[in-house]
Amino acid sequence: MPPAPRLKVTLVPARYSALCQSLGLTEEPPVRFVTNGKPGKFLGMYWPATNSIDIFCNFASIESGRLIHAQGELIDTLLHELKHAHQKQLHGSEWYRKNVVKAENEANEYAASNRHLWRGVVQLKRVQHGSAFSKLSRHASRQMV
Ligand SMILES: [Zn+2]
Repeated sequence: MPPAPRLKVTLVPARYSALCQSLGLTEEPPVRFVTNGKPGKFLGMYWPATNSIDIFCNFASIESGRLIHAQGELIDTLLHELKHAHQKQLHGSEWYRKNVVKAENEANEYAASNRHLWRGVVQLKRVQHGSAFSKLSRHASRQMV
């Protein structure tokens, strides 16, 4: 069994629906938070075939930082991937491959200018582990390499 995450990430369904609506999405892409993801902040992935989003959460790196900063990055990543879902809806699934730079710029700009509006879409909470904390932290770091 993987070590228990020290941060718990949850999507707030009503707010997520409002976000998808504001973007003009006709379908809400399911979001999966992968807690044993690759190291380095939050990494996101939009899957056109299933119209779904994976967010890889590096809990070890968040822990040393501030929670509010981590939440900002998490929202940023989610908004970025949602914009890719929007691009697929507008232009079809082949468009991204031929317009990678434009697509990435659009997604970055959308995330940067909207992140302050949608913080409440994702909740990030610390999970208490008492004295086992540092031991779990080392274990988690190895798992994510
Ligand atoms: Zn992207």
